[in-house]
Amino acid sequence: MSSGNLKPVVLAIGGLDPSGGAGIIADVSAIAAAGCKPAAAVTSMTFQNSDKVAGAEHLTADAVCRQVHAVLGEHNVAAVKTGMLPTAEIAQLVAGIVAKRSLANLVIDPVLRSTSGYELIDKAALDVLLSDLLPLATLITPNVPEIESITGISIENIDDIRAAADILHKQGAGNILLKGGHLPPSINTDAKGKRVSSDFLFENGQMTVLAGEFIPSANVRGTGCMLASSIAAYLASGDLLAEAVRRAKEFVYRIIRAA
Ligand code: PLP
Repeated sequence: MSSGNLKPVVLAIGGLDPSGGAGIIADVSAIAAAGCKPAAAVTSMTFQNSDKVAGAEHLTADAVCRQVHAVLGEHNVAAVKTGMLPTAEIAQLVAGIVAKRSLANLVIDPVLRSTSGYELIDKAALDVLLSDLLPLATLITPNVPEIESITGISIENIDDIRAAADILHKQGAGNILLKGGHLPPSINTDAKGKRVSSDFLFENGQMTVLAGEFIPSANVRGTGCMLASSIAAYLASGDLLAEAVRRAKEFVYRIIRAA
């Protein structure tokens, strides 16, 4: 059954940050800002604000399953964005549904821990994410600590970036967007010596450097969530991957500048 709405529906699956800084609330706002209709399934109720993550109560896989099926029962979902998938059971469930329903335009934000250091998912969940969900994805969007943790490579130069992307590629990632926000200045400096903030897009192994402006005072939470959700929304609207990434980066820049 379809509700007949004209906007493409984008389903965000992830954790709820009640303070609205990251997670599902950031996802939903980015999806709506990109002109799509947001739908959401909550995997974990986290207790956090900008100061700290004080804890989390994860939902059961069954509770996540029932939310996702409620969405799929009403909407034709045009893209899926995953964030915090805290347990192996939830990661397995999401992979199973994406595969069984042939859901397109899956964007994985491989959320591991909060900036303050709180572990948002367990190791078994990451293993399932990599083995079962990654091969189904259009794009995975790690930041530097995430790709280092997943691949075991410490990123210090462009060769490290290529090697880490290669490992993810071999693990089944078709396309990878490495977010460069945490890169050392030695990588994030342009030909004129000016500090930049570059991201690295690998499409089927082909690297494109997406140079961006470095904004020193940026202290906005949820930018990773918003970027991945915005990409999913532009993919749902019919953009090719590189264009979806370009438009999503522009959106997140506007948010950071406004902050
Ligand atoms: N909490 C949830 C539910 C998230 O999904 C994320 C990141 O995706 C975070 C916290 C981490 O946010 P931050 O890096 O701003 O601490």
